[in-house]
Amino acid sequence: MARIVQKYGGTSVGDVDRIKNVARRIKAMCDAGHEMVVVVSARSGVTNELLARARAVCAVPSERELDMLLATGEQETIALTAMAMHGIGVPAVSYTGAQAGIFTDKVHTKAKIKTINAKPIEKDLKQGNVVIVAGFQGINEEGQITTLGRGGSDLTAIALAAALKADKCEIFTDVDGVYTADPRVVKNACMLPEISYDEMLELASSGSKVMQSRSVELAKKYGVVFEVRSSFNQNPGTIVKEEVAYMEKVVVRGVAVDKDQAKVIVSNIADKPGSAAKVFRALSDSNVNVDMIVQNVGRHGVANLTFTVPQSETARAVAALDPVLVAIGGGQVTVHEHIAKLSVVGVGMKTHSGVAATLFQALADAGINIELISTSEIKISIVIDQARADEAARVTHTAFKLDKA
Ligand code: ADP
Ligand code: ASP
Ligand code: MG
Repeated sequence: MARIVQKYGGTSVGDVDRIKNVARRIKAMCDAGHEMVVVVSARSGVTNELLARARAVCAVPSERELDMLLATGEQETIALTAMAMHGIGVPAVSYTGAQAGIFTDKVHTKAKIKTINAKPIEKDLKQGNVVIVAGFQGINEEGQITTLGRGGSDLTAIALAAALKADKCEIFTDVDGVYTADPRVVKNACMLPEISYDEMLELASSGSKVMQSRSVELAKKYGVVFEVRSSFNQNPGTIVKEEVAYMEKVVVRGVAVDKDQAKVIVSNIADKPGSAAKVFRALSDSNVNVDMIVQNVGRHGVANLTFTVPQSETARAVAALDPVLVAIGGGQVTVHEHIAKLSVVGVGMKTHSGVAATLFQALADAGINIELISTSEIKISIVIDQARADEAARVTHTAFKLDKA
């Protein structure tokens, strides 16, 4: 008998038939004698719909109320999944994040899990129940409902697997596993039988939506080995863990695209010590997540600073910069939203040269212009025109021969 945490994403619980399919899969595990804790997301599209409704009634909704609203998406599916289990004769009980003892910090809409009180779940498991937990939500010390950031049900599952010392953690989704690129965009992308935490983390934080990046961070921290697999078949998926056999040999492991970025240019600012510090201090004080940064110095003692931020944070970035420009003696801010960030990721890059040259050549051959470049030990990212992002992913994938991975 094993203790297993499974997570089913939005498409996997997208309608009544799919919820029944999930219930049958869980029953098969119970029949095999396993203890089951199951995390479910809201039905696919529901979180986006709720967000749109919130914005329709108020341009800038309160984050407390947003969390109150968004948490209802998962509350629907936990109850329906528990009922579907009852329908096929399996005892099951649904839990909200708060009932599951998931305590978070106070930051609404992107709260961090601080502790989990596993006692209530342990008690139900002992009584022979399947425990169905609402993903993406928790409660803070003031008793307020919080949510864990988009894709946060992954985080709930990994955190529960760690807290409950599960023998296995499975993330069920609508593709067979983690691929060398988004299989919906790059048709000949290959599924990876395994991938290291570090590579998965870089892919996730560079826009590969298959796993929430914070959940991978947590899995690495607590050594939670997990498998990403499909809820629509029985195929084995991708195992995500610390070390994998190929590591150093494969130079590029995957390509990720993030279309949710904007480029901000702060131009004509004084080229003197302190300008950049003031700009980025103001952004950080406003909780704006800055990613790539480039500075060009012009001839007449002026400089331009260019950086990327998530699209949802552009308004906040611009508001934060207005007073700074006054303080540093002038400058202009322009925002470009129609950009995309493309990244190639691989642990093997540490020991191989030529990755940047191959990437730039592939894009040059396709006539795609590169606007910004940044590199780290295991990743190269570039900013390009959003309209050409899918094509760029395909030519990059071919240039690194990932279709033969
Ligand atoms: P869920 O609702 O199950 O959490 P998501 O929509 O969040 O599912 O994530 C699964 C989607 O991630 C896939 O449908 C796929 O289009 C996308 N995706 C992006 N990059 C990758 C990748 N490298 N491997 C697999 N899927 C990817
Ligand atoms: N329902 C939430 C979202 O759409 C959480 C999740 O699906 O993981 O972001
Ligand atoms: Mg997801």
